Amino acid sequence: MLYTIMHTNVDREYYESLSVEFTPNINKFRTGNRREHCIVDKKILKKLDLKVGAQIRIIRPSIHDNPMAIYTIIGIHEENLRTVFVGYSEPEDLKSRLDLNTTESFTGNIDSQVITLGISEKKAKEQGEFIELLKKKSDKAKIAILAPHGGDIERYTDDQAKYMYDVLSSDLATSWVCKGFRPTGGAFDRWHITSTEISEESFPGLKSIIKRQFKYAIAFHGWKHDDICIGGSMSTELKKDIKHAILKAIFDSKIQIHTDYEKDCIKDFNGDNPRNIVNRLSSQSLQIEQSVKARKNYGIKIAQAIVNVLDPLLVD
Ligand SMILES: [Zn+2]
Repeated sequence: MLYTIMHTNVDREYYESLSVEFTPNINKFRTGNRREHCIVDKKILKKLDLKVGAQIRIIRPSIHDNPMAIYTIIGIHEENLRTVFVGYSEPEDLKSRLDLNTTESFTGNIDSQVITLGISEKKAKEQGEFIELLKKKSDKAKIAILAPHGGDIERYTDDQAKYMYDVLSSDLATSWVCKGFRPTGGAFDRWHITSTEISEESFPGLKSIIKRQFKYAIAFHGWKHDDICIGGSMSTELKKDIKHAILKAIFDSKIQIHTDYEKDCIKDFNGDNPRNIVNRLSSQSLQIEQSVKARKNYGIKIAQAIVNVLDPLLVD
């Protein structure tokens, strides 16, 4: 296993976990991905030594399987002490994320530790955990390869990142991959954080590279739609080359490829948002969203097609 689990460069010496009151309240949140959002009492935030924008875990201990999910703190309040408002769009969100059958308040833990440090992927799988893997051969890497939703969150995207990292010329690539698992299913519900909201404060490995501006950054993602969508801040010429290389590689699949420059991507594609983690790491980024079929049956072919286009550009 070549992956290194990072557990240095953390500002905090230890992570805090507090027992607090959680109140689901749809009216406190704007639409969008409010199922991943929470608003925290100012004092709790201070106690946890966190800032707005960071991620936390909300845990319901003692219930079997310890229901838990990651939330992004989108604001603070001073209404009720020791209370966290929990967002949702449908009551089903609370069921799938925290195993809640009602929208009534509950007591649970708020935990500043988002990823689990120092456990193997095998253990993470068994325990239904969430890990971060940073892999690099050199500090001079020119491309960052990301799979923020690997493991069972968006399956096969981590395999694509690993493949691309392994085949690229040595010393040219860094990869940042997160893997989330849940043995009973529902890893996406538990561990998914939207790419525009991923905070480096919650991911020590990411924090160690966030100030680097890579020449290129590429993020592999999966979605529920049937097609592939390509976007990001790299030049249209380059995205055209990549689109055609992928089309050639998957010509027998009948999978369609849409692009941001042709303006035919599905609405929830966020690859062009400057807050997207891929765009925070490079001004020449590529975000690729892929159907399950594309990832499962053509994942490595797609990664190789991207390598074919980018590899020659990594050598000065
Ligand atoms: Zn994703």
